[in-house]
Amino acid sequence: MKKNFCILPWTHLNFDVSGQTRPCCIYQGRIMKDKTYPFNVEEDNVSDVWDSEDLKNIRERFLSGEKLKECTQCWKEEQGGMDSKRIRELHRFEKLYKEKFNKDVDWEEFISNPKLYYLDIKLGNNCNLKCRICSPWSSSKWIKEQKVYDEHWNMEWSQGYKYNDWADINDEFWKEIFDVIPDVHYIDLSGGEPFLNKKLYKLLDYCVETGHSKHITLHFNTNGTIFPSKFIKEYSSEFQWVDIMFSIDGIEDKFEYQRFPAKWDEVNDNIDSFIKYQKENVSYGVCSTMNILNLYHLDEFVEWVESKGLNYYLNMLEHPNYYNIGLLDDRAKRVITEKLSKLKNNEVQKVLNYMNNNSVDNITMAEFVEQTANKDIYRKNDFKKVYKEFSELIRYDYYYEMKKDLLIKK
Ligand code: SF4
Repeated sequence: MKKNFCILPWTHLNFDVSGQTRPCCIYQGRIMKDKTYPFNVEEDNVSDVWDSEDLKNIRERFLSGEKLKECTQCWKEEQGGMDSKRIRELHRFEKLYKEKFNKDVDWEEFISNPKLYYLDIKLGNNCNLKCRICSPWSSSKWIKEQKVYDEHWNMEWSQGYKYNDWADINDEFWKEIFDVIPDVHYIDLSGGEPFLNKKLYKLLDYCVETGHSKHITLHFNTNGTIFPSKFIKEYSSEFQWVDIMFSIDGIEDKFEYQRFPAKWDEVNDNIDSFIKYQKENVSYGVCSTMNILNLYHLDEFVEWVESKGLNYYLNMLEHPNYYNIGLLDDRAKRVITEKLSKLKNNEVQKVLNYMNNNSVDNITMAEFVEQTANKDIYRKNDFKKVYKEFSELIRYDYYYEMKKDLLIKK
């Protein structure tokens, strides 16, 4: 295989919160219907996306060894010594192929006959939280607040942010998904908050009633505010494997600051309830998205997650770029490297490598402070109270003075 090859355009489709499609969830672009418009499965067929000229072109580019510019996140992670999604998915595919066909991958054969083995379905943006790193695009709860900022910055209320429930209402989409389920081995379900979605159980019922659940692994990304006892008690044992990842970016007051308006004690109790329902085919873990708001206190998070006995995955945030840890100045990077290196933890070390090998162009910490302070005003939060030591390290007051006349009034 060529050096920069990625298997996902041959095995996988991502359906985003609006019904648009990508080869994977971090690919920066959409599969295009023509020069102007992306496909949208709210009205287009899944099969037309899969057989489209644009997706064929993406496959050709990977086969020629091109390092696709749309895949920056993978290249940056690999540059920082991390196993990117590209690398992880390639290993997972090779393992699946071996189990399924009892032999190593016949690349020539597979490349000429792509098969949808993995589905990544973002079931709309219905969500009960408005996390700092999120947006109205992915969370309906964000819409009202974002409108205030857009008006303040004189931006057109034009981005079409709306309550997005395409997956709830589009039965045609589900019929097509049911057609491919016999080949599917892995379904990634997220949102919004997936356990709030009405169609979730329609999909699960179909998989269970047809017996296909026995060869399907379900992967959920949940914010942990809901304990879905019906799913855990009645459905989880029916699937080959169930993997539930909690999105937790910090603990206690830092958790509540980042994942507003969730309550730490409730989420922590819910996670305990999940863990209590241990089953042979169910695993739990935590996915933490590394950004400026949680990096400094990563040691507290690691202590908490290890005390729960949970696996964890440290995911790198690329956008919004004012939360990207590459934005920190050299002094802050040095202090954080010294603080977190004491953990002697490989996963943490990879995050530090990423931070020290990356910078963010055309933006400064002043932008981070303006964004943070505006949200503090609207939500009645206080960054400096929650992040006392860290706010001094990044010279929060200095940038605040620079931006204070530009903030929203409330
Ligand atoms: S190289 Fe990375 S970003 Fe590109 S399609 Fe593969 S996994 Fe996605």
